[in-house]
Amino acid sequence: MAAFVVKDLCAGCGACARVCPYRAITVEAKLARVNPQLCQDCEECIFTCPNGAITAA
Ligand code: SF4
Ligand code: SF4
Repeated sequence: MAAFVVKDLCAGCGACARVCPYRAITVEAKLARVNPQLCQDCEECIFTCPNGAITAA
């Protein structure tokens, strides 16, 4: 199960992309995207996102 970004909550700040140890997150057009093939479910991004926009779903 990869981390999932709730589109409407994401502000595109890039904090999640900076903290991901596996570089699984990219931010384009103010929206974060998780590459499920790179995500290792460490949940760092979930704790980091100021908007609660990332879930483990
Ligand atoms: S930390 Fe949250 S608000 Fe910022 S880019 Fe990532 S998902 Fe979006
Ligand atoms: S759960 Fe971990 S590996 Fe997956 S996108 Fe978030 S920070 Fe990266």
